[in-house]
Amino acid sequence: MHKSKTFFISDLHLCQEQPQITKIFLDFLKTKATEADALYILGDFFEVWIGDDDRNAFNQMIIQALRAFTDTGIPTYFMHGNRDYLIGKRFAKASGVQLLKEPTVINLYGSPILLLHGDSLCTLDIKHQKARKMMHNRFYQLITLSLPLKLRRHIAGRLRNTSKENKRQLENHIMDVTPEEVLHVMREAKVKTLIHGHTHRPAIHNIKIDNQNAQRIVLGAWHKQGNYLKIQADNTPDLVDFT
Ligand code: MN
Repeated sequence: MHKSKTFFISDLHLCQEQPQITKIFLDFLKTKATEADALYILGDFFEVWIGDDDRNAFNQMIIQALRAFTDTGIPTYFMHGNRDYLIGKRFAKASGVQLLKEPTVINLYGSPILLLHGDSLCTLDIKHQKARKMMHNRFYQLITLSLPLKLRRHIAGRLRNTSKENKRQLENHIMDVTPEEVLHVMREAKVKTLIHGHTHRPAIHNIKIDNQNAQRIVLGAWHKQGNYLKIQADNTPDLVDFT
């Protein structure tokens, strides 16, 4: 059945320590999300993902919830963020989501739309760009995944603390996107709409590309409430907060 709206979410940062956000997401899958033609998850869905072999109860519960949702026939797509870049085929198979490469251009109700997690746009964050290069290197990923789970848990815990500290120092100027990079990737992809997350600065920015109207839509993080982007068949975007 065609419902003529598509939903986009990102930056839920799901983890055991945030039961209220987990609950909001599980409710979202059972209620609002069922109205969508398709659901796109644009990264940092999990606070951290250290490999599909980490079959702890929390991960299993989220996978089961996604499975129940995708079993209803709503196509669900997943793009990696910088926290869950190790999500792999086993996760996709178990949950029923389809993995998307970054960047991806989709055709949404007749319009091409560029999808990114968003961290690649923050070109002034040199440290992160270096880390990102590693994260997306298949060899580095395989080496990481070959480490014992226990060791990966330990490393992930340490990285999390470091990145929290870095963020506090850099938050004001470095963590947002570089406007020139936005124009560059949108020109390259030949799109007038870009959707991304990562920066935790939800907004619909009307911009100009070569004198033509364009839009950069930024998804919000799920801190205390849920947040999704709804795009209707006439391409009207709507950022919705809910609890
Ligand atoms: Mn991110």
